[in-house]
Amino acid sequence: MSTVQFTNNPYLLLTPGPLTTSDGVRLAMMKDWCTWDDDYNNIVQGIRSNLVNLATNNPGKYSTVLMQGSGTFSVESVIGTVIPKDGKLLVIGNGAYGYRIGEIAKYLNIDTVMLDSGETSDPDLVELNSILEADPAITHVAVVHCETTTGRLNPIDKISETVKKHNRIFILDAMSSFGGIEMDIDTLGVDYLVSSANKCIEGVPGFGFIIVNKEEFEKCQNNARSLSLDLYSQWKTMEENNGKWRFTSPTHVVRAFAQALKELGEEGGVAARAARYRENQRTLVEGMRKLGFTTLLSDEHQSPIITSFNFPDHEDFTFDEFYNRLKEKGFVIYPGKVTDVNTFRIGNIGAVTPAKIKDLLVAIEESCYWKEAVN
Ligand SMILES: *Cc1c(COP(=O)(O)O)cnc(C)c1O
Repeated sequence: MSTVQFTNNPYLLLTPGPLTTSDGVRLAMMKDWCTWDDDYNNIVQGIRSNLVNLATNNPGKYSTVLMQGSGTFSVESVIGTVIPKDGKLLVIGNGAYGYRIGEIAKYLNIDTVMLDSGETSDPDLVELNSILEADPAITHVAVVHCETTTGRLNPIDKISETVKKHNRIFILDAMSSFGGIEMDIDTLGVDYLVSSANKCIEGVPGFGFIIVNKEEFEKCQNNARSLSLDLYSQWKTMEENNGKWRFTSPTHVVRAFAQALKELGEEGGVAARAARYRENQRTLVEGMRKLGFTTLLSDEHQSPIITSFNFPDHEDFTFDEFYNRLKEKGFVIYPGKVTDVNTFRIGNIGAVTPAKIKDLLVAIEESCYWKEAVN
């Protein structure tokens, strides 16, 4: 990490994107860069190949496309570009991000079925198998890896087994897991993986990326339902013009992302980062349980990325009051995003270490104002 303290962050973000970035990443944005110059395009090309290498041990089979916008824009560019006009999508949904994929498909008039297991359950794999068996019209299956709304890690190895047994195209929203959890998308049979700059790679927001199975993607030339989100055209432009983007690219954000990738390498790669996140999460949950908090999910389903905690069972507790007290002490946490259960969330990703989590736990202990009311 850079020793130059260029900007003093007002607080530590424990939110899963935008998240706390390193000084080095923020410093990379302090210059103005040309978009079409070779210097810049070479950086883009370096990012594209670096991402493929992080995703798989079989990099020749895959390519990366970068796409402007937040992560949802990248998801929409995939759904709108890779499914042919007569295709049909099965979405496995167990949280707001899964349901959003279904909503995108509806906007785009794509024939879609939703396998909804509810927000606090694992996907039903038996049902998945029956649906695919009964409906050969389904061409694509999409699922979220880490459902960031609850913190659940979906069993993508088992899902992939079923999807591939039935020979369907597999789309993975690995937005909040890629770079923070080890995976090989070739082994997993993933054809399209979507993620974004401001999650586990620890860059700043502004673009997303899609790692595509080249052989499959070559078939998608005339599918796009949107001009600016035409992922195929974006890919061809990048491939044929040494990393050029079709429209104005987020140059500062791209520079920051290149720096973030460099720092990921310096940390020891995805395995080392995953170990840090796991330790953050373990430290957090152990400390929170000591303070009397309970988690929404059981430990076996819990991701190392973000944890949902149930509201304390006390009438004096309000999230706003708790949030404001923590913010005053320099920590920002996240509201919950589960429909029927009152929860708040604490993320472990970003430039956050177990030592910072311990500081957070002290701040939380001091912010349990409703406990004083009991005494
Ligand atoms: C962050 C995230 C997204 C994208 O959200 P944006 O707000 O559009 O960046 C999509 N899926 C998952 C699982 C996410 O965590």
